[in-house]
Amino acid sequence: MAHVERHQWDVVIIGAGGAGLRAAIEARERGLRTAVICKSLFGKAHTVMAEGGIAASMGNVNDGDNWQVHFRDTMRGGKFLNQWRMAELHAREAPDRVWELETWGALFDRTKDGRISQRNFGGHEYPRLAHVGDRTGLELIRTLQQKVVSLQQEDFNESGDYEARIKVFQECTVTRILKEDGDGGDDGARVSGAFCYERESGRFFVLEAPAVVLATGGIGKSFKVTSNSWEYTGDGHALALLAGASLINMEFVQFHPTGMVWPPSVKGILVTESVRGDGGVLRNSEGKRFMFDYVPDVFKEKYAESEQEADGWYEDPDTNRRPPELLPRDEVARAINAEVKAGRGSPHGGVFLDVSTRMPAETIKRRLPSMHHQFRELADVDITAEPMEVGPTCHYVMGGVDVDSDTAAARGVPGLFAAGEVAGGMHGSNRLGGNSLSDLLVFGRRAGLHAAEYARACAHERPAAGAEQVDAAAAEALRPFGEAQEPGAAGASGATDASGASRGGGRPAENPYAVHQELQQSMNELVGIIRREEEMSEALERLGDLRERAGRATVEGHRQFNPGWHLALDLRNMLLVSECVARAALNRTESRGGHTRDDYPEMDREWRRANLVCALKAAAEGRGERAERISLRRREMPPIRKDLLELFEKEELIKYLTDEELTSE
Ligand code: FAD
Repeated sequence: MAHVERHQWDVVIIGAGGAGLRAAIEARERGLRTAVICKSLFGKAHTVMAEGGIAASMGNVNDGDNWQVHFRDTMRGGKFLNQWRMAELHAREAPDRVWELETWGALFDRTKDGRISQRNFGGHEYPRLAHVGDRTGLELIRTLQQKVVSLQQEDFNESGDYEARIKVFQECTVTRILKEDGDGGDDGARVSGAFCYERESGRFFVLEAPAVVLATGGIGKSFKVTSNSWEYTGDGHALALLAGASLINMEFVQFHPTGMVWPPSVKGILVTESVRGDGGVLRNSEGKRFMFDYVPDVFKEKYAESEQEADGWYEDPDTNRRPPELLPRDEVARAINAEVKAGRGSPHGGVFLDVSTRMPAETIKRRLPSMHHQFRELADVDITAEPMEVGPTCHYVMGGVDVDSDTAAARGVPGLFAAGEVAGGMHGSNRLGGNSLSDLLVFGRRAGLHAAEYARACAHERPAAGAEQVDAAAAEALRPFGEAQEPGAAGASGATDASGASRGGGRPAENPYAVHQELQQSMNELVGIIRREEEMSEALERLGDLRERAGRATVEGHRQFNPGWHLALDLRNMLLVSECVARAALNRTESRGGHTRDDYPEMDREWRRANLVCALKAAAEGRGERAERISLRRREMPPIRKDLLELFEKEELIKYLTDEELTSE
């Protein structure tokens, strides 16, 4: 195998969204040499697309807010399946992380008396989301990037090298986590680095480090209708599995209630929840504000029963209850789905979301500038004059790497850490809007801190990545070409012959784009917002076929910026993650949060105690491509700490906890 360049670092962060950058800043501030690697341009990550805001109980708009209320809301939103310690740390630390951003140069919108303004969002009892119009993620990323640059300037002043202690490798993709003994299995071996390729040149390289932080974001590109962009192919989830770590809560996928439904080319693009937070209402084709019909029993006491009460809440939240449009996302998404199914949808298969009759045009343009622009440019709709058409879109995955709540360390793989959307547990079965940006900062910082401490402890005995393992990773990456290829070997190795048969194999070659499309269609139709046993079983069958076909996916051309090749490599990740989602969803015979079963419509208190843990089957690497790759086991949730349980009324706990749990307090 050709020579592969190796670079030595102390900490490698995979992903340059909010979680990755916050982790990198922490590791570098603790004096560790830190590399950040990202698939796209530096600054282009999901975090930059975040619109509504960042949830933190600063109490600036309503001083009734505090971390305990935020903790309660987060646990309710997640239907008590959250890793409670993560939810506690998140609620306690989020305000400090927001303040810290301001000290680094962020400028949030202000209240009249000059404090950071906070807006309402679904599931949050008080106005809690610090925001910058509807472009909050942009300010967050801009600030974190600026902080990275300022650290690089400090390093330059000290050493003459901007990249001495923090370097960004942009437009590079990691395809394997490397471990010290080279077999990559679930064997407790330490992490030793990451195998990467440069997207533009196709050149391979290795970033060696004792600590690797996964901060790769979500999985949305496995579904047809999604708010996620091209990068979100579940890479971090799959890299963790392949390195021997486990994933939890993979059955919980959030379908945001409001994505664009028209025109088809933009279907799925997000319509921020701030539209509803700022007063927007949902109506069906009969003009009815239908959400009043969909308030579930567990939330009945907290939501308004009439339009008058709901509207009164915006001005006087102390005497009125919240509008049902601000129920947690899973509830609103299911309600929209039901209205469309009942034939009361909008012309293009969604429902109507209206702000035009709710506030003056100037206010809409000031508070929701991106939405105004988005609808005007993409759908030729003026939201100050007419309603938007919206419907559910795959948005966020609650499931992710099984981590230690305090340290963000992946269980079972020393040296591997995970933070942000790729980590599981924090949000339970359903994430509240705004809780992701705060999660990124709280756990990004923790991951950076603990990765730095771990790497420092390894300084005298750094794990090394064996040549055999690097060769295997290179061979795996080259497989779609059908034969080994040097970067720049222009035009070499067209992998198919004129008849479309793959070289040497006899079976027809597959087009990665076709496999991807079928995967997205299958996941959307069979493991989507409403699930049934037969459909999920069929999905697992189809995934077997697709795995086998993906094994034959071949690409033309060379390694220099070849999107077909990149997709062929991403397919492995999407298929692994999709199998986790489908297998866990089939197994969980109840409905909870982002997992709705038509055949088991109720929430079952017994299931609250269970996490479904996905791992790579021990022998999977060597078996046929069609074979199932994921094993599933049920694990008991740790009991919620007593002082945290005491934050809830007993009547509320009865809805979630078993009698045994209630009496063992
Ligand atoms: P991301 O920001 O997704 O970054 C992932 C990084 O990993 C990228 O740099 C990517 O290039 C890199 N990467 C991935 N795979 C690889 C690989 N194999 N090799 C190298 N690099 C890799 N949440 C809120 O709290 N409030 C909001 O208002 C909000 N609005 C949203 C609006 C939209 C349109 C979307 C899509 C999401 C929104 N969310 C919001 C959710 C939130 O933005 C995301 O959950 C969050 O930004 C994820 O951050 P992250 O740091 O985990 O990953």
